[in-house]
Parts: sequence; structure tokens; C-alpha cells
Amino acid sequence: MTESFDPEWGSSTLGIRAAEPRTANREHSASVSMTSSYVFRSAAEAAAVFQGEAPGYVYSRFTNPTVEAFERRLAAMEGGQSCVATASGMAAVLSLCLALLKQGDHILAARGLFGATVNLFNNVLGRFGVTTSYVDTTADVAAWKAALQPNTKLLFVETPSNPLCELTDIAALAQLAHAHGAWLCVDNCFLTPVLQQPLKLGADFVIHSATKYIDGQGRGIGGAIVGDAERVGKDVFGFMRTAGPCMSPFNAWLFLKGLETLGVRMRAHCENARAVAEWLERQPSVVRVFYPGLASHPQHVLAQRQQHGYGAIVSFEVEGGREAAWRLIDATRMLSITANLGDTRTTITHPATTTHGRISQQARDAAGITEGLVRVAVGLEDTRDIIADLARGLATLR
Ligand SMILES: *Cc1c(COP(=O)(O)O)cnc(C)c1O
Repeated sequence: MTESFDPEWGSSTLGIRAAEPRTANREHSASVSMTSSYVFRSAAEAAAVFQGEAPGYVYSRFTNPTVEAFERRLAAMEGGQSCVATASGMAAVLSLCLALLKQGDHILAARGLFGATVNLFNNVLGRFGVTTSYVDTTADVAAWKAALQPNTKLLFVETPSNPLCELTDIAALAQLAHAHGAWLCVDNCFLTPVLQQPLKLGADFVIHSATKYIDGQGRGIGGAIVGDAERVGKDVFGFMRTAGPCMSPFNAWLFLKGLETLGVRMRAHCENARAVAEWLERQPSVVRVFYPGLASHPQHVLAQRQQHGYGAIVSFEVEGGREAAWRLIDATRMLSITANLGDTRTTITHPATTTHGRISQQARDAAGITEGLVRVAVGLEDTRDIIADLARGLATLR
């Protein structure tokens, strides 16, 4: 049973109140529906539910009350008609592509995508005759236009990009895609629906790694696809029913609870990140800071227009290349040295030798990922403690 809600509510209210699952026990906080299948009162009822002629749950590979509550709540927050939850963020990318593309189709993607997404496109989908090419300057819509092929069916972008926080104009890219008869998918992992709603800007699909900010506490792996009732509600859902990369009810419960605090957490992440970025910009040993919330960011105006906040990924460049960057990272005592993000804990990483270590030097140079670049995913600790730890790192550069 699900309580009704108003789709016009703000994202914090929707995150708390939309699609609240409530059983006959009238529990206030959502419970977990840990069951693989459902029973029927008669053979006739079973037949009707199986045929889709009567409502009801059948089997948790494709319908489960806790998973459905998470899907409906996330769809409401993104402003989408339908959502399908998946076992991971990567399963979301895979499910979208396998549900909608066929042999001979082409994907046009941003160069700086999450590494596993690039591997999936090149080394998995490539074996089945779906080709992918990449646009270097993802901020430049003309570059996307020039790279379109007659068989381009899907444009795929992460904005802000990782790790340099380069933005893509979602509305302009959606227009370009639609004029070409293609779809636009935005991986909205970095900002979440609290800070950016790509569907409202014209994108067709939103992908999430729920593993990151939606959980927000580093506890579980999950993902989701949000979009319209036809492509997502029928095609992707049908793929899920058949192929089965589904989310477990327990993880859906974690993420459902995560959505309840997403608004307040994202605003706190943004506040900390802004303070860190502004502080870094004042440090003499820092050459450059990449954060869309800074007036110095070349796309600050676009960020103000298409986002409701600037996110929590701050990258900066120090002089002295890899040796200096590693010395800085190793001198921190509180920050976690890991490439993960979207956690309460602030993390610090050296993109050139970790997240982007497997791409060629040439590709790294083209993307502007230098040896002196450090990425911080700002968490929820007290601002002064995060800054004090970074100061400890920067002190080794003098
Ligand atoms: C982590 C991540 C993914 C993949 O998600 P998983 O849950 O790890 O499978 C996809 N896109 C972005 C931007 C990510 O950060």
C-alpha cells in the first residue's frame, strides 16, 4: 500500500513523503519486504496477476514493494514518469543500452566518463555491434553536433564531469539529440535530483549510481534509470523482468531511507565544498581550483542556470606534478585516500594514477588531467577539520 503525494512538492519533501510504503500494520517508517515471491488466494487470481490484468506482486526480480517505493520516490524527485532500480549504477547503464539499442546503433559519449562506463561501451557493447565514439570538449555543443553519425541513437554525458567539473548545457544537448532522432541520457550521480533535474531540462533518461549520494553513507551498491512510461516503464522494465539485474529489497530500503535525508545532506555537502574551494583558491601553492561554484569557473553562469547547487567535487592543481600531489595526499591524516565519492567521509584521490590511470597519457592530456591534479569529494565532517587536514597536506609543498 502506498500513500498519495503531491508531485509539486519540493525535493526534500518528496524525498521524505513520496511513495511511502505502508502495510496493514500502519508502520510510520518503511519496513523491508524480504520475500522472493508472492502467494495468491486462488488459481484464477494467480492467472489474472500473472497476465497483468489484476494488480499485485508476483516475483521480486521485477516487482517488490520496497523496491517499487524507492523507484516511485526517485521518479518523483527527478520529475520522471517511471523508474527501474538496478543492482548497481553499471547495471543501470547496461540495462538502458540493452533495452533500447540494437546492433548497428551508435552511442556518442563525453570523453571524461566514469571509467567502467567507457569499458562497458567499448569492450562489452562493442562486441555486440553497438559502437561508441567520444567528444573531447564536452562543454562545446558544436563538437557534439560535428561528431553525430547517421546511426547515433544515444548521447551520454555526466555533468559536472569527473574530475574537472566541466559542465554540459543539458537543454542545448537535448535539443541537438532530438533534432537527430536520438535520446539524451544524463548520469546524474554527482548532483542528484536535489541539485539538478535533467529530465526537466529536456533529457530523456537519467542514470544513477545509488551507491554514491543516494545512500550517502557508503553502505550498499545500487542504481536506477528514470524516464518516461514507455521506454523506461515498459522497455527497461521488460528487460529487467527477463534479464534480472535487479536491486535487492534490503538495498532498496537503505536507498529509500537515504532519499529522506538527501536534501539536507546535499546542501551540507555543497556548503562544505564551497568553503574548501574558496579556501584552496587563496593558497599560494595551489595553481588552479576547479569548482563550478567559484566565479573563476568558466561555466559558472551555466551552473547557476541549470543546477540548484554546485555539488561537492572539488579538484585542484599543485605545482610539482605527481611527486607533489602524492606528498600532499600522504600528509593528510583524516581524509580517506580512496576514489569513492558521495559519502559522509571526505575522500582524496590522485586521478592521473587511479580513476584515470588506465587511459593513455595522450587521452589524459587531452582531458586536462595533469599529474599535479588532486580531487577531493567533500564530505560532511566539520568544515574547519577538512580544511585543517588539507592545510597539513599543502604545508609539505612549501
Ligand atoms: C560510481 C559511478 C557509476 C557506477 O556505479 P556503481 O554503483 O559503482 O556500479 C557510474 N557513474 C558515475 C558517475 C559514478 O560515480
